[in-house]
Amino acid sequence: MIAPGSRLLALALVGALVVAACGSSDDGAGGTTTTTDAASPSTTAAAASEPVTVAELFDPDALAAEVTEVDCTLENGSTTSCHRLVVASIPGTVDPGPFCPPTVDSDEGGIFTWDGDDPGLYALDASFWSLMDQQGYSFADADGSLHIADPADAAPGQDSCLEATPDDSYTLAVLLPTAPEDLDEPTDLGTVSQVGLALDGVTIFGDAPSGTSGAIPALDPCGGHVDPSGYYHWHFGATSIQSNLDAAGVPRECGEPQDEDAIFGVAFDGYAIYGPHHDGTDPTDLDECSGHVATTAELGEVYHYHLTDQSPNLPSCRVGATAQDKLSSPDNDAVSLPDTGGPGGAGGAPPGGPPAP
Ligand SMILES: [Zn+2]
Ligand SMILES: [Zn+2]
Repeated sequence: MIAPGSRLLALALVGALVVAACGSSDDGAGGTTTTTDAASPSTTAAAASEPVTVAELFDPDALAAEVTEVDCTLENGSTTSCHRLVVASIPGTVDPGPFCPPTVDSDEGGIFTWDGDDPGLYALDASFWSLMDQQGYSFADADGSLHIADPADAAPGQDSCLEATPDDSYTLAVLLPTAPEDLDEPTDLGTVSQVGLALDGVTIFGDAPSGTSGAIPALDPCGGHVDPSGYYHWHFGATSIQSNLDAAGVPRECGEPQDEDAIFGVAFDGYAIYGPHHDGTDPTDLDECSGHVATTAELGEVYHYHLTDQSPNLPSCRVGATAQDKLSSPDNDAVSLPDTGGPGGAGGAPPGGPPAP
């Protein structure tokens, strides 16, 4: 176990090194001063605004606005600074779907982590619907067509494959602490809890809602789907999900580039989330949250999480404090964002799940 202070020290040191390397500085008054360095290809627009930390690792195409540094209050009461990232409700960096197949025999469908009898990761294909039949569910008509419903108007009592309507017309704002602060106890990342933001601009949530109610909020083969309020989000680490699919014998291909070592995103406590491998192998020193302190290519020696070989493959807890209003929408008061005090947060429906009663 590494003392929390060690993580902060490591992060601070890395930050100092990156500042030196980039030749940039923030004047602290909202403006940014960037020295001219024609030889440095890393001096991008995103890097110029926040030259120091995880914020500059995000795909520039995923960001709907320039990254800013803002005052924020963490859940432990600490007042500090946060990176503020704004992303589209459906970033152009991803290609969502397919979700629910049109018929029980179709191979044009996504996946689901079934948590009823015979739990596991399944393709939404003929064998899965047959399993559902055996368990007493009825997802199809006699002609084999599947009951597909928008969660906004799914009929109660009707076994349905849920597929929400995308809405790309608004943005989401994410706060990530610039200097992570550890809590005394890890925070469980259970069902539909907020995990973080992927480098492709897509929010990451904990386990998808249970399917045992007879309503299956389908995921696409990369582990994402559309919330009832229209935004796309991940329930898996998409950059290594193919190994999970293959291990489970699921005949689906995720179109996202796969890299077991690559950084996938940043947790809401500010720590990075990498693929399941560290330097090409499974790390052996992970804590209960699937994290450890080790040297990374991007951030130096810092605490970071790893995706797992479980399904879903996300860390099951987080060690650090998240910002109040860590996820909100600047331009859509109606969006459902559970686990937050942000707009639409109170009583919002779980992502991808049926609407709140
Ligand atoms: Zn590692
Ligand atoms: Zn969801």
